[in-house]
Amino acid sequence: MSVIQAVRGTKDILPDEILKWHKLEEIARKVSANYGYKELRTPIFEKTEVFTRGVGDGTDIVNKEMYSFLDRGGESITLRPEQTAAIVRAVIQNNLLKENSTTRLYYIGQYFRYERPQKGRLREFHQYGAECINSPYPESDAEVICLAVSLINKLGITDYKLRLNSLGNEISRANYRNVLINFLESNKEKLSEESKARLTTNPLRILDSKNPIDIEITTKAPNILDSLDNESIEHFDEVKKLLTASDINYEISPNLVRGLDYYSHTVFEFQSTYLGAQDAFGGGGRYNSLFKELGGKDTPAVGFAMGIERLLLILEQIEQQEMENLKDLIDVIIVPTSEKHLDTAMRVANIVRNKLELSCLVDVNRRSMKSQLREGNKWEVMWALIIGDDEAATDSVTVKYMMEKIEQSSIKIEDIVKQNW
Ligand code: AMP
Repeated sequence: MSVIQAVRGTKDILPDEILKWHKLEEIARKVSANYGYKELRTPIFEKTEVFTRGVGDGTDIVNKEMYSFLDRGGESITLRPEQTAAIVRAVIQNNLLKENSTTRLYYIGQYFRYERPQKGRLREFHQYGAECINSPYPESDAEVICLAVSLINKLGITDYKLRLNSLGNEISRANYRNVLINFLESNKEKLSEESKARLTTNPLRILDSKNPIDIEITTKAPNILDSLDNESIEHFDEVKKLLTASDINYEISPNLVRGLDYYSHTVFEFQSTYLGAQDAFGGGGRYNSLFKELGGKDTPAVGFAMGIERLLLILEQIEQQEMENLKDLIDVIIVPTSEKHLDTAMRVANIVRNKLELSCLVDVNRRSMKSQLREGNKWEVMWALIIGDDEAATDSVTVKYMMEKIEQSSIKIEDIVKQNW
């Protein structure tokens, strides 16, 4: 009988890997607690309506990516493709909102999207995220971004970019939608088929297109930041001010709109060059209309989600890079051709390490010259200093430049410190 494989785009997390997951989850929980966020766990599946109404009909997630099915009772059920809509459902249902107070929640769990699997893109993946609910003020936008940055810092990720944009309030966003549709209509023939279809369903999303022809057109599109009204500008300015006060660097990206329907005002995304094509490892924004959309009271909120697989990919790459750097740490290898010359080798190593302050290895396994040089290649050392009978007799070393084929030279030991290395 044939062996059954896991479903395409899903992965087992093996015992060898699980410690990394535990560690990351532990750090995420700790950072969340430091900001006063409490965990909320919702079921893995919801009524499909939570996402069609919450995430929005015009989005890729709802149109193409949901795992939806009729259960045996004939009800349409969906494996959650994201958490925010389900959190809002749970907050409304369980009365977690308090008047004049903020509800701060975080989550860790798995999510399901029928996407084409590739590096960093799975059909079952994991997210950590946080939501700050019931504040319309920019300080809550800044708070969730600070929380995300704290986690990134705690994980030791330094090489990343925070992209920031504002979609403005609902009026500004609607105005911009019209301006954008007008602009795109006049370029409609040149747009990709996918973007043509989005013109009516989700025109803002065209700004996010990765298609080169679309990009050529959208770089000339009207800037969303020019459509913001005063209230929206003030909100965005304040967010930027608070981020700067928190020592957080960001880049304004007017083309960043994010895929979902529910965002207004601030949107943001974290990008890493370690990830390749799927370079976003987290993102979020403000969603002031979602509560109403799901039948609740008008409640402003803001939040973000980070992909755990992508965070782990970045950490793996950093680790690899550190190993590479470690390798680079060795500049010189001292090569005694026999144990007779070990004392000279030690004397030379001492000069290299302490006077030149270069890193250096001396073989302690009495290996042949050839295998010592091979070891030097493994460490990618710059120079080998060879000590054989002739060298010992003249109190000198033979210098072999390991990076390129250059003729070897001889140098007196006392002159080693005078040479430019
Ligand atoms: P989104 O809800 O699409 O903004 O996703 C938030 C984060 O979840 C992204 O930045 C990714 O890190 C991660 N993510 C989204 N979709 C996937 C996927 N199919 N596979 C792995 N990670 C994903």
